[in-house]
Amino acid sequence: MKTQLIILLAAALFIGACQQADTTGTEPAAVPTGQAAGYCSAEDARSRSTVYRQIKAAVDEIRLIDTHEHLVSEGLWLTHEVDFFYWFSHYSSSDLLSAGMPPDDLSFIRDTQNPSQERWSRMAPYWPLVKYTGYGQALRIAARDIYGIPDIDESTWSDLSERISAARQPGFYEKILRQKAGIELAILDCISDDPYITVALSGDGGRQPTFFVRVKQLDNFVRLNNDRISNLEVEYEQEIKSLDDVLTALDKAFDRIIAEGYVGIKSSLAYSRILRYEDTSREEAGRAFEKLLAGEESFEQLRPYQDFLMHQIVRRAGEHGLPVQIHTGLLEGSGNIITNSNPTHLVNLFMKYPETKFDIFHGSFPYMGELATLAKNFQNVYIDMCWLPIISPTASKLWLHQWLETVPVNKIMGFGGDYLFVEGTYGHSVIARQVVAETLAEKVEAGYLTMEEAQYIARRILRDNAIELFRLERFL
Ligand SMILES: [Zn+2]
Repeated sequence: MKTQLIILLAAALFIGACQQADTTGTEPAAVPTGQAAGYCSAEDARSRSTVYRQIKAAVDEIRLIDTHEHLVSEGLWLTHEVDFFYWFSHYSSSDLLSAGMPPDDLSFIRDTQNPSQERWSRMAPYWPLVKYTGYGQALRIAARDIYGIPDIDESTWSDLSERISAARQPGFYEKILRQKAGIELAILDCISDDPYITVALSGDGGRQPTFFVRVKQLDNFVRLNNDRISNLEVEYEQEIKSLDDVLTALDKAFDRIIAEGYVGIKSSLAYSRILRYEDTSREEAGRAFEKLLAGEESFEQLRPYQDFLMHQIVRRAGEHGLPVQIHTGLLEGSGNIITNSNPTHLVNLFMKYPETKFDIFHGSFPYMGELATLAKNFQNVYIDMCWLPIISPTASKLWLHQWLETVPVNKIMGFGGDYLFVEGTYGHSVIARQVVAETLAEKVEAGYLTMEEAQYIARRILRDNAIELFRLERFL
């Protein structure tokens, strides 16, 4: 591998020399190779101030409460074919498309039946363009710290891929999530059909402490159509022929949510509609439901029903003491409408349901200022930074600075991995700890906080606030 590296370095230098000699300006820039960036590495920490090193050491000691994950259970993961390309099931894959990769190439890369070399060849032009984003950094940190691969490139991807496949062994989750990432408990928004989830939730039949607790998505009640009605009829064992029937099924759903120990409700509706839910009358909602039964699918026609149902869910959540996690801001994937997910659309819900606590996701990126004002104005609105540190570590720092100055410290949740695979969660946790440590160190160095205050805040935003909001003591 060393020889390979030397050849690559020599090639890079040669290409670099050619670039300098080229005056036409039509050649693409040479891709930097060789020494990997040490972002969030031990060497990186050593070169910093004493204040930073002390705070970072304290932050690294904190057992994280992870407010948001989509991970499959280890039991299901063990049945998957995993390799390097598995890491492109989301996030960095969206960056590849953004960089210009044809969607067909992404499908080819994801197909485990295709030869690995050909899959890499299709990725090779684009990986050097996306490796610098927060998503890319999370993967590079995972490659470095978990698999001992200093950087991901032409000379290392295949080695990395083999190591990822070989790591598919029972106990990997415990090793990476609990031991290496230092996560004590994660709130799971389970989006896969996972036959092993019950075992996972029981801590592998009582052999492990609980690692996952769950939130429940009720979006199918809102985005109802005839197919989803049939699914709800099966799930809740009742006929659904009227709006009253829907509400009876919703009551059953809440009974189960309580009986099965869910810790909150989750809504991802920003992916399919604007987050403004008008206060619609039952009659108006009933008329829209009749249209739905008749096969109507347009949002404009069904909106009174959808808006009414969201109010019903939010009210019931408050009555049962279940916080509601709401996706706002950036939408994963391509071509989404960002203005739909501005958190200010939710103001009427915040005002009408003061008993319901709202955990507003992703720092509302890029609407972080709006979220600051909402969390400051409304007792029932909380800032959740899940996903944010890998969207942009710098935006996370800038806004953590401002949120600490504007919002009471009990209302900020600092980490949610938001990954489908554990290596991503690990990489993300490293970046999130660094974001928190850097921000607090800067506040101490500026005289805004004492060292003790900084450590108290770190513990609150990475752990205690989530325990309080989701009442998680019973799982610890
Ligand atoms: Zn998510």
